Amino acid sequence: MDYLRYLKALFLILQHHHKYLNRMPYYVLEYDTNKDGERHVHLEKSDCYRMPKKDNQLALGFHDDCFKAMDKANEMYDNINACFNCCMECYERPKKIQEQS
Ligand SMILES: [Zn+2]
Repeated sequence: MDYLRYLKALFLILQHHHKYLNRMPYYVLEYDTNKDGERHVHLEKSDCYRMPKKDNQLALGFHDDCFKAMDKANEMYDNINACFNCCMECYERPKKIQEQS
């Protein structure tokens, strides 16, 4: 009986964990730099048209949001930016555009 209760508790924990992992977005970093020398963070499940090919992706892992994914990427490389298509809230516009507006 205790064993069954233990199994039930374990099952509930696993179920919760599974939901949590499924909900948390997974981020990748594009290895190749763009013309400004930046590497871009992408959201993996976004079907982003700018998503780099698999052999040009570095795993950033599961993060609550793109800001945390950016922190992780900044630990790995300098000149990190976010993809303006799939990580819009983290995308930093080039300085020239910022100064005009
Ligand atoms: Zn993207």
